[in-house]
Amino acid sequence: MAGRLLSIGECMVELMQAEGDLLRKGYAGDSFNTAYYARLFLPEDWSVDYFTAVGTDTVSDEMLAFIEKTGVGTGYIRRIEGRTPGLYMIHLKDGERSFSYWRSVSAAKLLADDADHLRKAAEASDILVFSGITLAILAPNAVETLLLELRRAKAAGKLVVFDPNIRPRLWDDNTRMLETISAGARASSLVMPSFDDEATHFGDADVAATITRYRSLGVENVVVKDGAKGVTLSFGGGASEFVPSAKVEKIVDTTSAGDSFNGAFLARYAADGDPVAAARFAAQTAAAVIQHHGALVARDKLEALF
Ligand code: ADP
Repeated sequence: MAGRLLSIGECMVELMQAEGDLLRKGYAGDSFNTAYYARLFLPEDWSVDYFTAVGTDTVSDEMLAFIEKTGVGTGYIRRIEGRTPGLYMIHLKDGERSFSYWRSVSAAKLLADDADHLRKAAEASDILVFSGITLAILAPNAVETLLLELRRAKAAGKLVVFDPNIRPRLWDDNTRMLETISAGARASSLVMPSFDDEATHFGDADVAATITRYRSLGVENVVVKDGAKGVTLSFGGGASEFVPSAKVEKIVDTTSAGDSFNGAFLARYAADGDPVAAARFAAQTAAAVIQHHGALVARDKLEALF
């Protein structure tokens, strides 16, 4: 059955060390990465759109052209005069990655400022995806505008998908961070957290505690990702099921492991409604993605998954 997926958040310009001081430019961001993998694996009769705001400058034009080329729709992306996309740089030292960010005045921070536009996009969609990073970059009143729309979508029976992706450096206040993440979960029908983050910030003793906490917030479906171990699913109030991770001989770059898992999971789940089969496929996808460099692995390197 055909449908429409909308992913909401910030895509940034990525600068990566190429050779010496030479830098290579790319584009990435958790919610966009998820849209990219959902597009790769969803049937042709599904559309995938990205919802964000960019500027009117050249790098914004280039980012939109890049997004279009991946098959993700840009029709809902607003352009804001005088703003530019956020930017980050990856530093590689002795195999370890670290990041610098320039995103404090990015266009994407205004993504929820046009409530009518947001409503149109939400009403046109069947699956809505957002993350804790989407919430972290918004001003408090914009968080409210977005969550109001997501609650409406959930009440209308749509699949509202939230990856808490807890990033303390994006929040100036720990209490507000935890409250806003919980509010994001309440607006959702499927939450896909990473256990490490949840244990660190919410103090969950084990995966079962993460599931119980989100279910108590009114989340019907939870998929807890736990790195190399696997994922635990609790769907529709049924018993939890464990799906192990796929074996990986040599990890090359773990960037986008969680995002690729989410995108692949949603693509399969949308197509056939079987969460366990979707988790198995998503585990294979994430395992393949971390054996390549970069957040967005090209389709021809993932041929074995098709
Ligand atoms: P995040 O990248 O969001 O922190 P995780 O580290 O939990 O998320 O990883 C997401 C998914 O990626 C896991 O559920 C698993 O399928 C896969 N994955 C991550 N690390 C490994 C690993 N070492 N071996 C195999 N699969 C892995």
